[in-house]
Amino acid sequence: MAESEPLIGIDLGTTNSIVATVQDGQPVVIKNRTGVALTPSVVAVSKNAKRLVGSIAKRQAITNPQETVYAAKRLIGRKFSSHEVQDALRSLPYAVVAGQHDDLRIRMGGRDLSVPEISAMILQELKADAEAHFGRPVTKAVVTVPAYFNDAQRQATKDAGRIAGLEVLRIINEPTAAALAYGFGRTVNGRVAVLDLGGGTFDVSVLEISQGVFDVVATGGDTYLGGEDWDNRIIEWLVFGFAKEHGLDLRKDRMALQRLKDAAEKAKVELSSVRESHVNLPFICTPPGGGAALHLQATLTRDKLEDLTSDLAERVVGITTEVLGEAGVRPSELKEVILVGGMTRMPKIVEAVRGYFRREPCKGVHPEEVVALGAAIQAHALAGQDSELLLLDVTPQSLGVAIAGGYVRRVIPKNTTVPTSATEVFATSKDFQRTVKIMVLQGEHEMAQANELLGEFALTGLREAPRGQVEIEVTFDINAEGIVSVSAKDRGTGLRQSITVTASSGLTEEELKRIIEEQREYLLAARLSEELKTKRVELDSLARDVVDALTRARLLPGGGGLAADAMPRAEQALEHARRVRDAEDVAALTRACELLSGCLTQLRGSAQSGARR
Ligand code: ADP
Ligand code: MG
Repeated sequence: MAESEPLIGIDLGTTNSIVATVQDGQPVVIKNRTGVALTPSVVAVSKNAKRLVGSIAKRQAITNPQETVYAAKRLIGRKFSSHEVQDALRSLPYAVVAGQHDDLRIRMGGRDLSVPEISAMILQELKADAEAHFGRPVTKAVVTVPAYFNDAQRQATKDAGRIAGLEVLRIINEPTAAALAYGFGRTVNGRVAVLDLGGGTFDVSVLEISQGVFDVVATGGDTYLGGEDWDNRIIEWLVFGFAKEHGLDLRKDRMALQRLKDAAEKAKVELSSVRESHVNLPFICTPPGGGAALHLQATLTRDKLEDLTSDLAERVVGITTEVLGEAGVRPSELKEVILVGGMTRMPKIVEAVRGYFRREPCKGVHPEEVVALGAAIQAHALAGQDSELLLLDVTPQSLGVAIAGGYVRRVIPKNTTVPTSATEVFATSKDFQRTVKIMVLQGEHEMAQANELLGEFALTGLREAPRGQVEIEVTFDINAEGIVSVSAKDRGTGLRQSITVTASSGLTEEELKRIIEEQREYLLAARLSEELKTKRVELDSLARDVVDALTRARLLPGGGGLAADAMPRAEQALEHARRVRDAEDVAALTRACELLSGCLTQLRGSAQSGARR
């Protein structure tokens, strides 16, 4: 039997991304080519126009802030005019411009890129890591998103997959993935809470698990609470101490600030396992009036860190209390509490959560890996490689239509298992109305305006009648892929109109196709330039060896018994190598290498036999 295609699960995070798979029945994280599980969700274009992804991009952010894009997840699938995007813009150093349909573009490397293109660069990197791991192509993945992501955000994430050359088998919710990683759904049924404290966001979800269905009962959190806030407190403390000692504000210097940021995160991470951390930043700045460079040295203890950030830990508990309150769930009613995200490695966070729930939360050694592991389990299950685990998809948000007075009539409530279909009957709201406009909305707000408009269409040619007398039947259909079709029918005349609403990610199909084509070309170009580089290195090294061998042969009496044409041939080959070296032609370079290598064998072979004689 042919070996089944490798399947992967991807956690595309705000701060870090991870890829995992199921191997010998066990979910495992795939290490990237630098040997670690985490790939920072950072992409950049370097000064010499090279695309950088992951830790290499994160490391150069210091010197290249405008061309380094991070936290793209905050922007994916959103409208430029939305307050979330406008809020994010205030803190992001890279340029974001409005696209054509109120979508947004990120300016990087002199190009305006859509957010899915940026996310695709990260996905591509993870795909390449997985391919290196398996030693063969990987084309299918399950990708996770926060439970509160709407259709547009999910669709945009799928588009990112397509651009990266991955078929996204399914998009699943991060808390669901976390619960799967803990084997819930098989072992645990009932309500569980998932608390995910990452680098920049805090998500709280309550899931109701029964018979393989994971319903999101409630979601909440704070999209601006995460590890970075802890880092910032440490930075403030370091800056304050330095100002007290030297009277200088380090925050004014971008370079110094980036170094402080890195050092602060490192200290925070260390303090999760040891009680004291030393910060040492030599030559952090030169005094404005000249003089010797100044160094920053400080010792931060775990107690001090907890002291500096006690309100942040309290916010974690406060927000959790709120979300549970909204969901109408008491902490004691929960079957389990799962901790997810790198920040839950901090002992103080575990302690705060334990105190609130009065129970030991589930937390593995690597809380930032569980989402990816769950995604891998889901991918495995979807491929039928695990028949025990049946997972059904649910609608993430309610669907409905706008009705008179600016309200929404809900047709399919959120968390409905798909595929599904539902019909509602509406009546005209005006006398002798000939047309109705059907506006398809997604969201939980009772006012139409506050929801996302997925699409609209008109049903015309209605029978003329006093208001309320014409009945219109609106049917929503959601298939297993989550594609929504809506049709409206005049019950009197049988007249019918329908649309398929594919949530728009901000990219049209044509744009997407063009991007995929560009992507393919980019990858080909990147591979070519990689091959050229390798070949040139090989050519240069062979040329050096030939020159050496020639020099040696010339020193030997009678050329060391070389064939008469050996030296001129070698010289010709060297000349040829010089000519083709900078051509963008792998085949020509390969031939030049072969020529040189042939000459080398001849020069060395004869020199050896000459010496023996
Ligand atoms: P996200 O889900 O936002 O992409 P992660 O779950 O990977 O991110 O969490 C990243 C955050 O976790 C960062 O702020 C990082 O500094 C923090 N973190 C990682 N390891 C530790 C640790 N040992 N102690 C405290 N914080 C940590
Ligand atoms: Mg995460």
